[in-house]
Amino acid sequence: MSELLTIEQALELVLEHVAALEAEDVPLDEAAGRVLAEGAAAGVDLPSFPASAMDGFALRSAEAPATLPIVARIAAGRPAERPLEPGEAMAIATGGVVPDGADAVVPIEDVEEGDGVVVVPGAVREGANVRVRGGDLATGDPVVGAGVRLGPVHLGALAAAGVPSVRCHRRPAVVLAVTGTELRSAGEPLARGEIYDANGVILATQIRSTGATVDRLPPVRDDAAATREAIERGLEADVLVTSGGVSVGVYDLVRATEAELGVEEVFWRVAVRPGKPIAFGVRGRTLVFGLPGNPVSSLVGFELFVRPALLALQGLAEPRPLFRPGRLARPVKMVDRDSLLRSRTAVEKGETAVFPLTGQESHMIAQAAMADALVLVPRGEGELAAGSAVSYLSL
Ligand code: AMP
Ligand code: MG
Repeated sequence: MSELLTIEQALELVLEHVAALEAEDVPLDEAAGRVLAEGAAAGVDLPSFPASAMDGFALRSAEAPATLPIVARIAAGRPAERPLEPGEAMAIATGGVVPDGADAVVPIEDVEEGDGVVVVPGAVREGANVRVRGGDLATGDPVVGAGVRLGPVHLGALAAAGVPSVRCHRRPAVVLAVTGTELRSAGEPLARGEIYDANGVILATQIRSTGATVDRLPPVRDDAAATREAIERGLEADVLVTSGGVSVGVYDLVRATEAELGVEEVFWRVAVRPGKPIAFGVRGRTLVFGLPGNPVSSLVGFELFVRPALLALQGLAEPRPLFRPGRLARPVKMVDRDSLLRSRTAVEKGETAVFPLTGQESHMIAQAAMADALVLVPRGEGELAAGSAVSYLSL
């Protein structure tokens, strides 16, 4: 048997076969979670006028201390009708346009107001409490760069900079087909030997969480015609994700059917536990992932290979899994493959302690539900000691 690919080798092979999808215009209101295909530039200066940072009085700083007549009241969005002349003050609200002629705003808290005048008791620094035009950003400056996934702050900056729509990579369309004659959907009665489909909901949730759309087919029976029909449908999409049917049993029809339909297999099997019999191939621009049927294997395979692919299709700058540093809280056995152990994390003395759970078998989805992380235990012999530096993936 040839050497199995490592996780890193397999991931690089996947990413080599992924090109970001085309860009499209997306109105800002619909752009949450989308990834920018091109940087977006500011349509206006930010702020676009000298703006007051406080509720207070606009004046000429050189005149303070002074008692000045209040000649106008400026609200946000309601600029003064004329410039400020020497010896005058104008009341101004936060966000109001600082009038021509004024070079500072003195806050309400620092003055006394009475009978049409304001008493400014102390000196005032030039520019105090005035937000200069373009101080945050100038027209044409980049607001958000290509490859960034748009969250609330990015969208806010774009909105403030007057950007009505952005160029984003198209969302990947994914077809999800779980295979297994034994699979039933929640709510249906189980005959002997049947089980409830877990992977359908797990994978659909994982797919959606990347920003891709998912067309979830009903569970596929392990017969040639049903398998072929489902795979044909999936090959129309950007990505086909299947679960089950990729091992070596006589009912494992997925890979053979895909080969018949022109899928070129890039790899099958990776040195990882759980999830070794994972398959990856391509047909034209369609990426084809065959995840193993055991729910934990399918979940792990998705995080290691499918999520990065779906992120790369959207043009995300860094699509690889984000492993964070932690410390192993109890010893674990190493095996001949890299393992991802379901774990709980806790912050202890500023470090993340990672506690691998009991019940690590790949069918134990209920045990896995107690986990909030997958800790990577490198292949090796013997034990990895408590206190060892490890990396983990948040779930
Ligand atoms: P397979 O990879 O098809 O040999 O499946 C391996 C194991 O995972 C078998 O015990 C299957 O019954 C189980 N299995 C396959 N698909 C699912 C699914 N969608 N939900 C829960 N268990 C599954
Ligand atoms: Mg099966």
